[in-house]
Amino acid sequence: MALIREKNGKRLHVKSKLMGESLISKDLLDKMNLAPQARLFPEVDILKIGGQSICDRGIKALPAIVKEIAANKDKYKILITAGGGTRSRHIYSIGLELGMPTGIIAKFGSSISEQNALLIATLLSPWGGVKIGHDDVVKLRTYFATGCIPIVHGMPPYDYFAVPVKGRIPPHRTDVGTIILADLIGARSCIFVKDEKGLFTDDPKKNPDAEFIGEIGAKELMEKDLVDLIIERPCLEILQTSEVIDKIQIINGLQEGNITKALAGENVGTIIHKE
Ligand code: ADP
Ligand code: MG
Repeated sequence: MALIREKNGKRLHVKSKLMGESLISKDLLDKMNLAPQARLFPEVDILKIGGQSICDRGIKALPAIVKEIAANKDKYKILITAGGGTRSRHIYSIGLELGMPTGIIAKFGSSISEQNALLIATLLSPWGGVKIGHDDVVKLRTYFATGCIPIVHGMPPYDYFAVPVKGRIPPHRTDVGTIILADLIGARSCIFVKDEKGLFTDDPKKNPDAEFIGEIGAKELMEKDLVDLIIERPCLEILQTSEVIDKIQIINGLQEGNITKALAGENVGTIIHKE
């Protein structure tokens, strides 16, 4: 590997395309000839089991969902991510009232989604459910080869380093963690299992006039700037930027058969596609 000494300076470089670059130059990326992003696990389907929407319903929702996932485990390679839900919201409000910074709030969220990952893994353990950590994601093929259904907590590990924001609730929570994972592995599909048919023009629990949207582009949805959304807002930007995922689906997991149909590629909820 060639070492190059700057002519009038003292710095010693290893020759590469990024040599001497600040990495924040505006036209650097345009000039770079990037290889297309590799899809590490293009055979894997990601299912996010909602925290508030699913896990918090406990026995009223989880056994049926677990049964449906187990019935599909031999046909598909399913990676499950877990949301946080009501217990996250509880500790968030206590922490916020006490003046806790964004990073502490994010750390609280991680531990709650980890609880739900353990909950789902325990329910799925008769069919090979295993709770895995973020570091284990690169071992997915080994888990599937041994008949496991891996379950990982959905909160992205920014934790104490969560970017401070107005309101101090970290904007990158378990929906964002899920879509980042889908991009990381180049997943076959990324399905959000929640408790509504999909995306509406407003929260259907609060606004009876909210209209259902069956399919929409991420850019168009961002431009609509809806007051409330069924997935965390940064997901849209991440989808729009992804090189390897071109859509996500949001489905109602409380309706039996929806998970099976969504895994088979059917739109049973809302598709948000990259534009
Ligand atoms: P999860 O537990 O999966 O993270 P959330 O409870 O955070 O789910 O988000 C799902 C909820 O978002 C739905 O139950 C619904 O009441 C609410 N919601 C808010 N805005 C919308 C919208 N525009 N369309 C559909 N649902 C919405
Ligand atoms: Mg949520």
